[in-house]
Amino acid sequence: MSPVLDCSRLPIRLSRTDAAFVAELKARAELFNRELFNSGLPLAKVEFLPSAAVRQLGSVRTNRERSAFVMRIARLLDGPAGDRPVGGSRFNLRDEVLVHELVHVEQFISAPDEAPHGPWFLERMRLIGARPRACPTVQLEVRGKWLYRCPAGHEVTRLRRYGRRRVSCRRCDPQAYNPRHRLRLVGEITSAGGAE
Ligand SMILES: [Zn+2]
Ligand SMILES: [Zn+2]
Repeated sequence: MSPVLDCSRLPIRLSRTDAAFVAELKARAELFNRELFNSGLPLAKVEFLPSAAVRQLGSVRTNRERSAFVMRIARLLDGPAGDRPVGGSRFNLRDEVLVHELVHVEQFISAPDEAPHGPWFLERMRLIGARPRACPTVQLEVRGKWLYRCPAGHEVTRLRRYGRRRVSCRRCDPQAYNPRHRLRLVGEITSAGGAE
């Protein structure tokens, strides 16, 4: 599956809401590390980054020495889409994707010769109570095709893409265009998402 959005062209610039999302991911990862991984994951070596992807909800990369990891979690999951339940899992979608990537980190260290979504991985997911299937696919029920984010943190969908036109959030300022609530494009919404 090729990503819908060319993320490489988007500068990685952590806004206040991105920083809050990353802080939340780190806190959840630390909790899961204690509860599910017997504190065995080297989270201090994991860099968490929000991604603008809307199809690949999560990914994790490591270097040859497995001494550093970069985990990208779709910013989309910070919104209501992340609260959605996942069939066959005790986690919501946001936690499911995070746990999926944490199991990859564990596998990079403990079972590097096993296939990425092979029996070792599936058994770990099953034991943890996550969906055993390799890549969760979810239907994101949205009315609009384009996902925008308000600096206040909520998301809105629009049927059309605004391009360079400046549009602000009507919930925050119903009166007129307000640069403090300018909507920022997160990405194009497709019918399904997955985790790598
Ligand atoms: Zn708003
Ligand atoms: Zn995976």
